[in-house]
Amino acid sequence: MSKAVLKVAGLSVAYGGIKAVKGIDLEVREGELIALIGANGAGKTTTLKAITGTLPQCKVEGSIHYLDETLKGSKSFHLVEKKLAMVPEGRGVFTRMSIRENLMMGAYTRTDKAAIEDDIAHWFDVFPRLKERAAQMAGTLSGGEQQMLAMARALMSHPRLLLLDEPSMGLSPIMVEKIFEVIRTVSAQGITILLVEQNARLALQAADRGYVMDSGLITMSGNAADMLDDARVRAAYLGE
Ligand code: ATP
Repeated sequence: MSKAVLKVAGLSVAYGGIKAVKGIDLEVREGELIALIGANGAGKTTTLKAITGTLPQCKVEGSIHYLDETLKGSKSFHLVEKKLAMVPEGRGVFTRMSIRENLMMGAYTRTDKAAIEDDIAHWFDVFPRLKERAAQMAGTLSGGEQQMLAMARALMSHPRLLLLDEPSMGLSPIMVEKIFEVIRTVSAQGITILLVEQNARLALQAADRGYVMDSGLITMSGNAADMLDDARVRAAYLGE
């Protein structure tokens, strides 16, 4: 079995008196695409924020092992230096910069200029829509194109783990299909991905394994194909 990139054990997060995450275990192994699904408010985004140390005002308990270190959960750190990349809900591209400039920003800690150009060319092949619009301001892109740019920018930092928070949010059905196509392509290139999604069907179709989160708890986990066949998952999350 491949090496664990991320191992979360007994993670709990409370916002004041509200427990958003209630002692969850979760593991992501090298090269895997893991789907974390569940309804609105289940605690998925809070889990990602605990992993990335962006919950400064919260009570965080449990352990988060990432590669060979222990992350503190409530303590912020430099994501890029740890080769941990997060594409948040809402994406956060630099709207007044061109697509190419956004990609360069993703590589700002790197000094290998020729390799950066090679990477841009590589990700332009994966995201041809971005290539066609390389000089265009990111703010003029559609929501789906901005999502692609945010992913490509994150990949420019050579992450060991890519965290995607609701990449399909607010996109048209056609664009949602395209985004998932891109996620599959990126995963097929060996990038390790933890994908948080409300679109359970597409997420599980793309993933190797899945976790279901409900009211702060992991209520189910397993092989993604088996979960797609599971009667409880079908009834609760696939609208059947
Ligand atoms: P969504 O898809 O809506 O983002 P989610 O599964 O990611 O849902 P979270 O955003 O993690 O869920 O929210 C989990 C719970 O924590 C919710 O009840 C939410 O209201 C609460 N919560 C989230 N952020 C805060 C905050 N900053 N302060 C207080 N409560 C919060």
